Amino acid sequence: MLDFLAQTLAGKAPIQGEENNAHLHWQWWDEGILTLTPHQAVKKTLVLSAGVHGNETAPVEILAQLVDSLLAGELALQWRVLVVLGNPAALRSNQRFQHSDMNRMFGGRWQQFPESIETQRAGRLENALELFLAQCEETVCWHLDMHTAIRSSYHPRFGVLPARSLPYDEAFLSWLGCAGLQALVFHQSPAGTFTHFTSEHFNALSCTLELGKAQPFGENDLSQFAVTLQALQALLSGEQSPDAEGPPLRYTVTQQITRHSDAFVLHMSAQTQNFTAFPKGTLLAEDGDTRYVVKENIEFVLFPNPNVATGLRAGLMLREI
Ligand code: ZN
Repeated sequence: MLDFLAQTLAGKAPIQGEENNAHLHWQWWDEGILTLTPHQAVKKTLVLSAGVHGNETAPVEILAQLVDSLLAGELALQWRVLVVLGNPAALRSNQRFQHSDMNRMFGGRWQQFPESIETQRAGRLENALELFLAQCEETVCWHLDMHTAIRSSYHPRFGVLPARSLPYDEAFLSWLGCAGLQALVFHQSPAGTFTHFTSEHFNALSCTLELGKAQPFGENDLSQFAVTLQALQALLSGEQSPDAEGPPLRYTVTQQITRHSDAFVLHMSAQTQNFTAFPKGTLLAEDGDTRYVVKENIEFVLFPNPNVATGLRAGLMLREI
């Protein structure tokens, strides 16, 4: 039987590239890319991805467990599914990326970066999505891209939703709560993320799930994510998801902190957690003459990271909705 994660990490295509079991037909498309098609006609399409950042291993282990049970025929399937391990080269080396951050490159932005493993992979992933979603006559199309945060968070499990002109479907948002997300962050501007790409180009309901903190393979406490795994199993097999502990808090982005030059200074410690609150007037960062100051009564920081490449996001500031 196919061991999808092991085969991907080995960097070799499996000898047998497709097979049927009681519930589905699976097909190996490309390195780290697998389709699962139920035998019966279905109306729903799901892209399930992890490992876009190679050091974010907990979601990769969750995804591998799910794929193993699907391939073993242990789980019924009610969706057409594309499974993606985002950056196999970075997964092999347990690094966020080999050359530059792939989750800034989607939507064709990879063509503006110096050529690297990540620009090539982003192009290949976009092609795979085009192929898979071109066949999409289904009424429901979801993309769940699973990550872990670099820093600890006041909300250990949360989701980031790409900017979207149409409103989000409440059933989608409520499923994210059932999957254990404690907060949902609504982006207000376009970005080069994988989820923004699927939302913008295919009108998918997309969410970047942030599940705990990055740890190497084998060092993850997957019990923290049991609720997410259960909700995914229920979703795929068309069963009722476990009830949410409570509806997730909702946040919107008020401002982005961008590193424009080598003079950039972030006025936060390396221990500052995601969703730390700052009162109005706090100086957050400086970059030459540019000063980033809290404008609302309280703003919460997300993804503070002073060590990004010039021109990239060094943090987001949020307001609770
Ligand atoms: Zn990530």
